[in-house]
Amino acid sequence: METVLVVGAGQSGFGVATSLRDKGFDGRVVLIGDEPGLPYQRPPLSKGYLAGTAGDAQLRLRPEDFFAEKSIELIPGRVASVDRDGAKVVLEDGSAHEYDHLVLATGSVNRVLPVPGSTLDGVFTLRTKDEADVLRAALESAENVVVVGGGFIGLEFAAHAGRPVTIVEAQDRLMARVATPEVSAYFAALHEGAGHTILLGKGVAALRGEGRVTEVELSDGSLLPADLVLVGVGVEPRTRLAEEAGLAVANGVVVDEHLRTSDPKISAVGDCANFPCVQAGTATRLESVQNAVDQARAAAAVITGEPAPYDSLPWFWTDQLGAKLQIAGILTGAGETVVTGDREGGKFSVLSFRDGVLAGVESVNRPPDHIAARRLFAADPAPRFELLEANGFDLKATFA
Ligand code: FAD
Repeated sequence: METVLVVGAGQSGFGVATSLRDKGFDGRVVLIGDEPGLPYQRPPLSKGYLAGTAGDAQLRLRPEDFFAEKSIELIPGRVASVDRDGAKVVLEDGSAHEYDHLVLATGSVNRVLPVPGSTLDGVFTLRTKDEADVLRAALESAENVVVVGGGFIGLEFAAHAGRPVTIVEAQDRLMARVATPEVSAYFAALHEGAGHTILLGKGVAALRGEGRVTEVELSDGSLLPADLVLVGVGVEPRTRLAEEAGLAVANGVVVDEHLRTSDPKISAVGDCANFPCVQAGTATRLESVQNAVDQARAAAAVITGEPAPYDSLPWFWTDQLGAKLQIAGILTGAGETVVTGDREGGKFSVLSFRDGVLAGVESVNRPPDHIAARRLFAADPAPRFELLEANGFDLKATFA
């Protein structure tokens, strides 16, 4: 293998490049990215970077000289197409780059709110550093801030915006897609305590204004004054390159347990990849740093001839208003829950079970529980309810 070419210089693309070098790969490693500057991480964008407590240095994944030291070639530009027969990619500027193995690490794009007015001035999304810079500046003069979407991005933005905001959520609770009702309720109380207004079960019918947004019209016809609207309604995987190259695509680029696409010379990793998830028991696409980093490492192992089926435990974190939520496992389809710890005092964990087996653990301000849960899953991927019950649902005791 001579040249590994990676499309997308975000968390997972960077991870593939560095993992290849960590594994002793001595061919060319080429990282092509369409964002300006060095590869950076996104989590601070909706946390410290937004609040002004973290700067560029905290965003950067590595300083510039790291790439020269590791012989990782960074090429700025957007890949326009993949020529599988010729084993090369073509950039928008017309230049072509050949590969022996190609990795698609193209990430995802923010979903657009499908209502009139979604492109008015004053309406923002948050994914890139450029978007965070514009948003941070706009926040300084904004008076009425409305957040559309009570998921992680919207809530982290609210938590770090430095002023009361109104959060509009179509579901009947916050973070409904990824958290249990117990955790949703805790974070709703936290945000209300910080002065935010939460409107649940409300859709957005339109964003109104002449050129610039001035009001949000809700599905019940009511109007909210707004001069800054942050839309956080989820993402779509970036699959155009894969689709046009004739690769299998279904809610992401379809890959097997070795993260290979329908073309064995092409892998896909991170937000853009739909992979057979052991813990979910089905094909899944995950949007997390853990998933990006671990899949990058696994894809590099395949390329360097040490393939192992990808089975890393999914985990995630979010920081809001001084509270840290950490999730280990996959909660989808889980039913029965057990709450342990001090719920009133804001230090507790929620254990979720699917068919009598522990599916996931959400820990609120209990990092030791999160670590214990990850160790427990590593030792026993399917811990039974009775096992935990016998230990009083104490994760540390169960693992020991
Ligand atoms: P990205 O990091 O998005 O990288 C993809 C890159 O590919 C982008 O730079 C894109 O521009 C580039 N690209 C796409 N197409 C092309 C092309 N044709 N040519 C060249 N380049 C291309 N996860 C957590 O676990 N915890 C958190 O607290 C957390 N906070 C987050 C906060 C924010 C604001 C955001 C946006 C995400 C957060 N995430 C968090 C999610 C996490 O950052 C993503 O899951 C992760 O970045 C995915 O990595 P990726 O490499 O798949 O995609």
